[in-house]
Amino acid sequence: MSDITISFSQIAAFLRCRYFWDMSYRRRITRYILRVPMDKGSAIHHGVSRAWRLLARDQRKGLIRRSLLAYKKRATTAIEEWHAKWIEEHSEGVNDQELQDVKNLVEQARSIAKMLIDEIDFTNWRIIWYRGKPLIERELMIKMRGWKGFRTFPDLVAEDREMGGVWVLDWKSRSQFLDVSAEEVNLQFATMQHVLKRLRIETSGSIDFQIKNTPPSEPKRNKDGSMSRARVATTWPIYRQALIDDGLNPEDYTEMEDKLDVPFTLLNRHYRSPAEVDAIWRQIVRPAADAMLDSPTIIRSMSYMNCNGCWGRQFCLGELRGEDTEFMLQTSYLDKSNPRERIRIDPAEMEIS
Ligand code: SF4
Repeated sequence: MSDITISFSQIAAFLRCRYFWDMSYRRRITRYILRVPMDKGSAIHHGVSRAWRLLARDQRKGLIRRSLLAYKKRATTAIEEWHAKWIEEHSEGVNDQELQDVKNLVEQARSIAKMLIDEIDFTNWRIIWYRGKPLIERELMIKMRGWKGFRTFPDLVAEDREMGGVWVLDWKSRSQFLDVSAEEVNLQFATMQHVLKRLRIETSGSIDFQIKNTPPSEPKRNKDGSMSRARVATTWPIYRQALIDDGLNPEDYTEMEDKLDVPFTLLNRHYRSPAEVDAIWRQIVRPAADAMLDSPTIIRSMSYMNCNGCWGRQFCLGELRGEDTEFMLQTSYLDKSNPRERIRIDPAEMEIS
């Protein structure tokens, strides 16, 4: 029996390309990143999950719902704390431009988190608890034959008070939304539903809550003091608030409500029956996990679609061509099982022709 746990990421890597799986999970080779950049998606997750935690606590205590403002405030405070921690951990070698970029990114994360709380109708959800803790970004593990266990990490598990049913929710900030057909083949959600079922939490399906990764723009003021009526990428609540802040009457701008129809959020809900979840587990996940234990033949799934954007490409193709991968492991890649001294190339010593 393997003494390591397995997760959806490993299954997905194996199904996508066995060479990639072998390289990243068995040989433990990863790309080398000098400094991990601050990730806007993680900042948003951090803020929103803190707001959900506040809601979970309120629900436990039977508190009448607070105003949405309180949850938004909790999210923005959490993102500011996240920012402060990032600065503390990366204080060395960060220049002013990088600090400004991070500050702008935090600004955006704050307004996206607030919009998400508005749009998701935050208080419609009754958060499910498991073993004394709310199911908000909780690591859950079940037994799996041959492995130490199978781990999953849902963003949220909650009951929809209006439509009924318990749902696994995930929020993703994206530049382009995926359409609802993506949910039919969403293996990750199916594995989460399976794990929850094994923990005796029945779910109706999953919700992919997508949010644009650039926040809405602020509407512009005209020289005469009125608000511009041009169609800009913003929402009616933001436009309305800008009117109020400027002492203008939203009643005079009601036609803008239909005009500002740029979607910033998209909720893709997908019902997945227990029988379907079970079949996905038995016919896809379980056989893939078994095959990994059997030292499978390592084949490259080489295709434009697969290899485009694959971070292992240089190493994979270099090894295929018989190139010096040892040098790559000291420069652009990292062997986590055998870390080497990094080779630093002094720009002054580089030949310039
Ligand atoms: S470049 Fe292509 S073949 Fe190589 S590891 Fe990546 S996906 Fe697999």
